[in-house]
Amino acid sequence: MTEQELIATVIRPEIRALNAYKVADATGYIKLDAMENPYTWPEEIKAQWLKVIQTAELNRYPDPEAKTLCRILKEYNQIPAECEILLGNGSDEIIQLLLMALPADATVMAPEPSFVMYKQVAQCLGLNYQGVPLLADSFELDLAAMLTNIKNQQPEIIFLAYPNNPTGNLFDSDAIEQLIQHTKGLVIIDEAYAPFTDFSFINQLTKYKNLLVMRTVSKLGLAGLRLGFIAGNPGIIKQLNKARLPYNINILTQCSVEFALTHPDMFARQTEILCHERARMFLQLSTLKNIHPCPSAANFILFRTAKNKATDIFNTLKEQGVLIKNLSPQKGLLSDCLRVTIGKPEENNAFIKALKSAI
Ligand SMILES: *Cc1c(COP(=O)(O)O)cnc(C)c1O
Repeated sequence: MTEQELIATVIRPEIRALNAYKVADATGYIKLDAMENPYTWPEEIKAQWLKVIQTAELNRYPDPEAKTLCRILKEYNQIPAECEILLGNGSDEIIQLLLMALPADATVMAPEPSFVMYKQVAQCLGLNYQGVPLLADSFELDLAAMLTNIKNQQPEIIFLAYPNNPTGNLFDSDAIEQLIQHTKGLVIIDEAYAPFTDFSFINQLTKYKNLLVMRTVSKLGLAGLRLGFIAGNPGIIKQLNKARLPYNINILTQCSVEFALTHPDMFARQTEILCHERARMFLQLSTLKNIHPCPSAANFILFRTAKNKATDIFNTLKEQGVLIKNLSPQKGLLSDCLRVTIGKPEENNAFIKALKSAI
């Protein structure tokens, strides 16, 4: 048996057809490609954290329900008392969990472009994935098309990133409510960028049984710990919990996030700087010839370049030591588009300088 025959025997065709989710090697670059918070912690806070993890009993399994962490996250995120939350190893794992729990022939709907994991995981599981294009100029939801799709396809689940990645905008909240009201399935509002906006659907959770809100600590500044959560109707959360692996949140993540969230002011200061830098970057990008930035409520900015120039600009930036994300190969609405994460002021300056020389 050849290796190819072996693979064809034991791997499902939909997985063989997938392309792996590739992450660029960022060693040595000014890293503005992955929406990370560029700031670490002051030395005295690091020292306190080391004392906390020193007491972690690595020989024991962690609390399978991470009860303390759940309580702290509910408080920090002001989740209504009636709601339950479920934790995941990053919100990526929660996307996987949600889709694993669906019936085998289920339909998954999301606007496009949006976060690629919705489609990636849906296809990996052999589900019916329906992408509905956003409106071309505004990147707003095409409400009519989505409602038609809901009627025809009856999706079991709809993902809406709010703000959306990679476009950075907040979809019209009335349009979102219409989708929640018209679908018989679940609507997942993915609030990965909650630290950078005041808008949220958390206060709507008690209004709609089929609404769930997902968040993560990754963009806040703890991407390395891998922790996300989903909040909503206790009946749904209880069912999802059955599909969750018991020890999915390791002990170091549990105690480190518990510790980190005792320093809300530190994160608030960091995100405030980043929001300030976002406004400054937007203005600077707006002044550049043939560069069209999209207004963003997240910690990144999507911008369009002159026609067929995006990949050249991306490569020139890279040669100058600045790594951003080239979305142009994804084609469609993202043709000629690049995405830059907001970094420290000096990193942002280096990016703007390199960009000026690249265009
Ligand atoms: C980054 C991102 C995530 C992934 O978050 P993790 O918790 O790091 O897995 C989820 N959704 C959106 C929209 C994102 O941009």
